[in-house]
Amino acid sequence: SDWMPDASRYEQMTYRRSGHSGLQLPQITLGLWHNFGGVDVYETQRAMIRRAFDRGVTHFDLANNYGPPPGSAEENFGRILDQDLRAHRDELIISTKAGYRMWPGPYGEWGSRKYLISSLDQSLKRMGLDYVDIFYSHRVDPDTPLYETMSALDQVVRQGKALYVGISSYSAEMTRKAQEILTELGTPCVIHQPSYSMLNRWVEEEGLLDTLTELGIGCIAFSPMAQGLLTNKYLNGVPDNSRAAEGGSFQSSMLTEENINRVKALNEIAQRRGQSLAQMAIAWVLRRPEITSALIGARHVAQLDNSLDALNNLEFSTEELVEIDKYATD
Ligand code: NDP
Repeated sequence: SDWMPDASRYEQMTYRRSGHSGLQLPQITLGLWHNFGGVDVYETQRAMIRRAFDRGVTHFDLANNYGPPPGSAEENFGRILDQDLRAHRDELIISTKAGYRMWPGPYGEWGSRKYLISSLDQSLKRMGLDYVDIFYSHRVDPDTPLYETMSALDQVVRQGKALYVGISSYSAEMTRKAQEILTELGTPCVIHQPSYSMLNRWVEEEGLLDTLTELGIGCIAFSPMAQGLLTNKYLNGVPDNSRAAEGGSFQSSMLTEENINRVKALNEIAQRRGQSLAQMAIAWVLRRPEITSALIGARHVAQLDNSLDALNNLEFSTEELVEIDKYATD
């Protein structure tokens, strides 16, 4: 590679400690759920990863099934590592997960030891890694004993295939149970990954953030822009280059008149603050001390740059927060 990462990258970013662990994460993390699949333009992906690292983003969030096709985001990320970033492996936090359907049959999803261990082995192969930094249980399995899922997480750490473990989208109650088991096993959970945005406040309402503080677990908030709804993209209808137009994960049921009116009101507040709504959406999740990192997606470098510029204004006045609360409801 002829690329040299920006020498000032660590001065551009602030790192927050994840709960009571030794792990520090950048305030903004880049996720590879969308736009990094086999169907997407590789050079755009590569440019985004380089830019993120140039700006101090040391953490990249993946899962076994990211694509499409499933697995291709990890393959592409492995190729980008080969071309640009292998020399910086020790500066990177690479996360992956297992939980959603990855291959057919009874061992290709949920939370059995069989599935979690095989899936992580596959992920390591696709990315060309000896270990990931964080391995997550991607969702609660209602049928497998929680002890089995948690002891599989403990096992991969003991095997050296992961350095830390996390859980995603677990309720406050299940988080408490999971942490009890993991602590007993000697591999405490260091991070929880829930959805959280101005249009999705379950982590506040259902006591998850309080529980995480009590248990010393960090929190990385996924979809802080509500998959793009909390940006200026949909103010005047659905543009072609958008998740809503492409179908898939973005629920068009989110584009109600009520929601659009909220987004318009929030956009005006963002303008008054001299930032884009995307930036305010990121700053808003980071206002809470429980949030270790805002986990964003990006379609291209310009979007990523715009989102990273959120870090230029993270402060909210009490008046602003009260006004935002009028529109920031589920
Ligand atoms: P976001 O809420 O950040 O949505 C990203 C989308 O918002 C982009 O694709 C783009 O939409 C739009 N966007 C981003 N930046 C800007 C900007 N500056 N201006 C205007 N529009 C912008 O998060 P995601 O839904 O992408 O999720 C982020 C990550 O979270 C995932 O990659 C994944 O790692 C993780 N995640 C985890 C889940 C879990 O179960 N644990 C579930 C979902 C996500 P467009 O493409 O339309 O232009």
